[in-house]
Amino acid sequence: MIVALFSNIMASKDSGTFRTMCPMNCHPTLCGMLVQVTDGRVTRVKGDPENPDSRGFLCTRGHASREIIDNPDRLLRPLVRDGRGDTPWHETSWDEALDRIAGTMRPVGPAAVGVWTGHGLAASNYGTRISSYLARRFANLSGAQWWSGTMICWGLGAYGLGLTGALGTHVEAVEGTYTGNLVGHVLHAERKAVAAAELAGSIGADLADCWAYSDSRNDIPLLELVGHRIVVNPDASLARHAREHDWPVLQLKTASIKEAEKRVRREARAVKREARRKPKPAG
Ligand code: SF4
Repeated sequence: MIVALFSNIMASKDSGTFRTMCPMNCHPTLCGMLVQVTDGRVTRVKGDPENPDSRGFLCTRGHASREIIDNPDRLLRPLVRDGRGDTPWHETSWDEALDRIAGTMRPVGPAAVGVWTGHGLAASNYGTRISSYLARRFANLSGAQWWSGTMICWGLGAYGLGLTGALGTHVEAVEGTYTGNLVGHVLHAERKAVAAAELAGSIGADLADCWAYSDSRNDIPLLELVGHRIVVNPDASLARHAREHDWPVLQLKTASIKEAEKRVRREARAVKREARRKPKPAG
């Protein structure tokens, strides 16, 4: 995907600055990117300040995407190894790699197999995403688990933050196959607040001790639900609402992120101290 997207740009003209989207394609962010091409080679990428969503932002992955083209360390053939730890990797053919995967999957059974295509395949064929859907179809038909391609960004980010779960829109599946019907409502706006309140109730969490973060006016119901709300790089309506209600606002720019992290840690410690001081309920 990355190579294809950039090579389309390079094939079209020899030099110039071209407007595109980050090829890493975090859904639905798709940060806007300006790619500078000199003599048919990508020489620089930067955030597109005119993109209404990302407004000039490109994260480290987005900036690093230009290093992939022509990088001698790119993997062009499958690598396998016969053990973990220091066991060395060696190149193999696609046939041998696929036989090896099938030979490992069969004895453990489909329920113990997770199909993950990687983010690139999930983002390729943008619009139809046919390759990703074929892999998902394979997982559903065989009874294997299907892991979202976005695991690499969002899932691993969540592990890094120590998150233990997530709320989302429920999609109906019958005998392991998605029907395309929703179970309940799309998790959006008020519905997010309802789901968060139900979750807090089910685990006995006091909403006054809970935190919510958002950049969107759609999350005002969620922010109003909890005792601690932080507005981050808000849209115009949320910024106005935050001003009117004296809610804290974080404007996260590269220079301010460290200061913001310190402030969030400080505030979280204060909340923990306060919670420790609260008398425990009797019984
Ligand atoms: S968040 Fe980073 S990797 Fe994702 S689309 Fe934006 S710049 Fe690319």
